[in-house]
Amino acid sequence: MDKFTRLNHPPDTGLLPGNRPVVAPIYQSVKFEFDSVDETVRNWRGDSPGYNYQRSSNPNARQLELTLAQLQGREDCLVTASGVGVLSSTLLSLAKQGDHVLCFVELYAPTRNLIRRLLGKFGVTHTLLSVIDLAGIERALAGKPTRLVMFESPTNPMLRIADIAAITRLARAQGALTVLDNTLAGPHQHGQYDVDLYLHSLTKFAAGHGDVMGGAVIGSAELIAKLRPDFNALGNALDPHAAFLVQRGLKTYLVRYREQSANALRVAGFLARHPAVEAVHYPGLPSHPGHSLARAQMSEFGAVLSFDLRGGAEAAARVAEGLELFAMAASLGATDSLVLPSQLLGARDLDETQRRLAGIGAGTVRLSIGLESIDDLLADLAQALQRA
Ligand SMILES: *Cc1c(COP(=O)(O)O)cnc(C)c1O
Repeated sequence: MDKFTRLNHPPDTGLLPGNRPVVAPIYQSVKFEFDSVDETVRNWRGDSPGYNYQRSSNPNARQLELTLAQLQGREDCLVTASGVGVLSSTLLSLAKQGDHVLCFVELYAPTRNLIRRLLGKFGVTHTLLSVIDLAGIERALAGKPTRLVMFESPTNPMLRIADIAAITRLARAQGALTVLDNTLAGPHQHGQYDVDLYLHSLTKFAAGHGDVMGGAVIGSAELIAKLRPDFNALGNALDPHAAFLVQRGLKTYLVRYREQSANALRVAGFLARHPAVEAVHYPGLPSHPGHSLARAQMSEFGAVLSFDLRGGAEAAARVAEGLELFAMAASLGATDSLVLPSQLLGARDLDETQRRLAGIGAGTVRLSIGLESIDDLLADLAQALQRA
């Protein structure tokens, strides 16, 4: 073989049978081949296992999918290139013209936008309520055939707790599918409920280090099989290197989640006693209106919390700017702490009444608590709150 041909056909240094890497390698290959036409035809038709094209599946993405499915307590999973990627693919795959979607003012703003603006363009209608308005949910489901109920718990940034058993029971009775964006609770929680599909931004707690994006939808083998052709057509695939990084992050997932939750509870308690703070929103605090529901539903309360400053928007901005250990940046759930003041807690698509219903105040500040020493976090908050 000529040396220039060799550049495109490098020597095979693959592993011998019986010799294997302990950590699955990154399969950075778009294409996978078989030796015979017959085998290739069977695989391309989906009649035999194995891989053919990275967008459809690859060993790293598949390893991650099976790990996440088991963690959430379901049969199967599909991963995508971002959390918003899994939201858009799932919604486009499930909803059709004439369908009705029940959604909530507390939803992640891009989710609301996808339902109201994008699905709206294709003739999908929606009803917008508060996720804690169970009577309203019951009325909406009884009043109109509904394809999907799209909800979150805890919600962001006000940490409201949805009654998952009640919502899934009401939805099931009316033949509506339930889709729970479970990002804040994480894939180890809420698996005991009758939720049809769990969505996650893997960018947050699953990957955990703020250096890679991903999304996942988890559910029964039957529902995931129905989504798979549309996900392939929409082309949102997670690349092998990103899948590898999320898989690596998952090794420390539970210790991170527990430790960050413990830190967040300490921060919430500290804020609740501070004179500049009017209210703290954290489901782990006994004073939280959803505390007993959260205790029944969750094993950990998570690393995200918010609080309202008596000094309003100006105080919120001064505290956010004054914090030294907390980066003022989007996202949450990683090992480093973050802060966002009310000015950056976007609910710009909501009108005044809907904004009030969502509960975000002028003095609201959201924190995502990381793995820094708790004494350093409390000292930083104490000095920044002096500016409020
Ligand atoms: C961040 C987030 C998303 C979007 O995930 P990306 O990975 O940033 O695209 C969706 N839902 C919730 C609840 C989130 O917090």
